[in-house]
Amino acid sequence: MTTEYSAEVIVIGAGPIGLELAVALKKEGVDYLQFDAKQIGDTISWFPPQTRFFSSNDRIAIAGVPLQTPDQNKCTREQYLAYLRTVVQQYDLKVNTYEPVIYIERLREGFSLLTRGLAGERRYACRRLVLATGGTARSRKLDIAGDSLPHVSDRLEDPHAYFQKRLLVIGGKNSAIEWALRCHHAGAHVSISYRRAKLDARSVKYWIMPEISGLLNSGAIEGYFGTRPLRITAAAVTLENVNGELTEVPTDFVLAAIGYEADMTLCELAGVELTGDCQTPTFDEETMETNVPGIYLAGTVTGGTQDKYAVYLENGHVHIDRIVKALTGHGSGRDAVVYEQAES
Ligand SMILES: Cc1cc2nc3c(=O)[nH]c(=O)nc-3n(C[C@H](O)[C@H](O)[C@H](O)COP(=O)(O)OP(=O)(O)OC[C@H]3O[C@@H](n4cnc5c(N)ncnc54)[C@H](O)[C@@H]3O)c2cc1C
Repeated sequence: MTTEYSAEVIVIGAGPIGLELAVALKKEGVDYLQFDAKQIGDTISWFPPQTRFFSSNDRIAIAGVPLQTPDQNKCTREQYLAYLRTVVQQYDLKVNTYEPVIYIERLREGFSLLTRGLAGERRYACRRLVLATGGTARSRKLDIAGDSLPHVSDRLEDPHAYFQKRLLVIGGKNSAIEWALRCHHAGAHVSISYRRAKLDARSVKYWIMPEISGLLNSGAIEGYFGTRPLRITAAAVTLENVNGELTEVPTDFVLAAIGYEADMTLCELAGVELTGDCQTPTFDEETMETNVPGIYLAGTVTGGTQDKYAVYLENGHVHIDRIVKALTGHGSGRDAVVYEQAES
């Protein structure tokens, strides 16, 4: 297959950080191409409807474009996706969406990429490559008998589905607690199974902690703490506690919210060194360049699969200026100031 297109820089991923980088490259006049496996902002698109960011709007705004919400509240999934679309339109960014990069080959100078888009496979070449592929490609699986039954899911789509049904939520961090509360308010009979003895205030948004604590204390939501699910059948989930005692929880639906895993395949293909169970990539904090000269990382991909979320959107902005500096030899001082504030 012949190479159809080439560019100085290719950016893989059009989440908020990939888009913010694209704006910066465009402002610097860098010849670049950008791909996303799906639509722009894909990670945000699968948040449950009306999910609010925990970060304030100024911290998740990108490329210097103000992020306003009609009620001055924290931004919802829907508002943020509309905002990303506006940024793309405002800067007339060209993103090759629904075109996943499936192979990276190192050349004597630069890289060759293979994509599989809606129109078939294509080959591209570039001198430098930025991976902004995110850190939450898939949900962690329960990996127990019955976990693929049709009433078991790792996504909350619409709480309405669980009205007057028995729902077991597995997990005890932010997503699990938000899902439990929303489904409770939608009229579901909610229980929670969490492997730890109690909820950890560091892992749950502080403004929902009092409410969930009250509902657990009153028994309106039943908590099975210090338990792990052993198997799921059509009618129940068997939980095991730390002493090996079993409890059958009758349930109509199960939602597993036990975290996410990164897909580090592209890093592996390109020869980026990955260390530990989290597959943390090796890169230079100052330039964001990996151990492979010419390959840079931006955004949450830098954390690999994160056990404790330390890299997220609001503290990923700093990567942009470092990469632009490394690629062009200069960065914009104005943005650097904004990013420093956002990081603190
Ligand atoms: C429910 C929830 C709430 C959150 N709330 C907050 C918050 O309040 N504040 C905060 O800072 N963060 C929050 N986060 C985290 C935030 O969503 C991420 O930090 C943010 O999306 C990271 O941006 P990114 O651009 O680095 O990666 P992503 O947004 O994950 O984008 C990566 C992109 O790369 C694309 N891609 C992957 N592989 C390929 C490939 N092979 N070829 C082409 N494209 C590819 C994907 O399709 C995706 O669009 C939250 C996350 C969740 C799940």
